[in-house]
Amino acid sequence: MADEFSIIERYFTWDDSPKSVHQGVGDDAALLNLPLEQQQLVVSVDTLISGVHFPVETNAHAIAHKALAVNLSDLAAMGAEPAWFTLSLTLPNTDTEWLSEFSEGLKSLAKLHNIFLVGGDTCRGKLSITIQVMGFVKQGKALLRSTAQQGDHIYVTGTLGDAAAGLAVLQNRLFLSPQDTAECVSKLEYPQPRNSMSRLLQGYASACIDISDGLLADLQHILDASNVGAKINTHTIPLSSALKKLDHSKALELALIGGDDYELLFTISPLKAYQLKPLIRSRKLNIRCIGTIDQSMNKIKLHPEINLPHNGYQHFS
Ligand code: ADP
Ligand code: MG
Repeated sequence: MADEFSIIERYFTWDDSPKSVHQGVGDDAALLNLPLEQQQLVVSVDTLISGVHFPVETNAHAIAHKALAVNLSDLAAMGAEPAWFTLSLTLPNTDTEWLSEFSEGLKSLAKLHNIFLVGGDTCRGKLSITIQVMGFVKQGKALLRSTAQQGDHIYVTGTLGDAAAGLAVLQNRLFLSPQDTAECVSKLEYPQPRNSMSRLLQGYASACIDISDGLLADLQHILDASNVGAKINTHTIPLSSALKKLDHSKALELALIGGDDYELLFTISPLKAYQLKPLIRSRKLNIRCIGTIDQSMNKIKLHPEINLPHNGYQHFS
């Protein structure tokens, strides 16, 4: 059985630390060099609990990926450049194969997004992973929820509802072909946070949020924070080829209220949307306009209307 210190040394003390890390894992706390420019520190933390945020049988590589991905997605939603993260890990046992897969999953996504593990905590208990990410944004340039304006266009990245479809298949509530199942389960287990898209949206988007609890629930957060309403054209909701094969109302239900997409939902003024067009074309940006912000205080109007069982995922409802 590996002890706590050899676990930290073997799996969570990484080589090649960036210059910004004066002291990473190994002392009582991390010592980090701040950038010189006028920047703001952006901090976010998310916990993933086995059986709540991922099925108990999920493999360690995927768990690590998702734990970091959901946090990177929060930095993307703020328009922040990833820098460092800490990891608080509660483990039921010290299975070295599990730990090795976990640290591989963490490392490969961290490398891809230029974010470095600088510290954490390790203890014994029911499997739970808490990651805190830190990043930077130029002063005044963060993408907030509270700054959507009447007349803005509403955009989303990627396709919606795939992760929810993947979960439904795993729970035997939905049947898809083997290939569609693989694609949807991969969206569920390996969400790809939209940090590079977020970089492009700086200077264009007026407000932004990442879609973790479902399109409607997360759009509602922008509406509440900005005191505006929204009109959504349900025909324009982007659906993957897997979801297009389903009954249309079922696919829309998954896309509107299914969670775990980790796509970005952002608003943009008509002028900025016009200015963004050449970039959309030249970079083939995978984004779609799905509606507009209006003055109907805090309300979402769906056109054409559809009946939904509820508005999205909540932990305490
Ligand atoms: P302390 O008792 O001072 O809290 P720990 O023994 O918890 O110290 O941690 C020792 C060092 O290892 C610290 O630098 C801490 O940040 C780091 N660390 C502990 N657990 C992890 C982990 N899961 N991932 C990354 N770093 C960790
Ligand atoms: Mg500690």
